[in-house]
Amino acid sequence: MSVSPRPEVMISTEDIQARVAELAREIRRDYPDGLHIIAVLKGAFIFMSDLVRQIEGNVSLDFMALSSYAKGTTSSGEVRVMKDLDTTLDGKDVLIVEDIVDTGLTLTYLQEILRARGPRVLRTACLLSKPSRRKIDVAVEYVGFTIEDRFVIGYGLDYAEQYRNLPYIGVLDA
Ligand code: 5GP
Repeated sequence: MSVSPRPEVMISTEDIQARVAELAREIRRDYPDGLHIIAVLKGAFIFMSDLVRQIEGNVSLDFMALSSYAKGTTSSGEVRVMKDLDTTLDGKDVLIVEDIVDTGLTLTYLQEILRARGPRVLRTACLLSKPSRRKIDVAVEYVGFTIEDRFVIGYGLDYAEQYRNLPYIGVLDA
């Protein structure tokens, strides 16, 4: 995979911002009494920070870090919790915020362990989804963009810890 200083744009900054605002409106409508957001580090940090600034009302935040034992650019399906939540989920209206759902293995694992902690509501928002890669049917209530099977970087997503700072979603495998 080439390491280019200016990767090709797949989704522009403007298109991301417009879609994030739409998602925030949908989420606000579905969580009228406020919500507790769990952002999955590191990839979701920019999506989460743009999203929360568009959601009015009560929002609390927590973070979780997972290691997905990635082999190169694909997930192996084995997941480990590297950083757990600071607070309990008992009775809370929870929204998981993820960067991308690919095979669905990471998110399925995460939803299972969080559901076991007794939230009143548990839904998921993903900025990106690659449905053609799905190995397991996982529920994602809010999807920013459905994309084809390309390796994407930027807006929080990395390749070898680079590119997270790109303000757009780019592709490396062009
Ligand atoms: P899954 O378990 O759904 O196969 O993989 C989910 C995780 O794999 C994502 O949270 C992300 O960290 C990583 N991933 C999957 N596809 C891509 C991609 O196109 N680009 C980047 N940077 N990471 C990806």
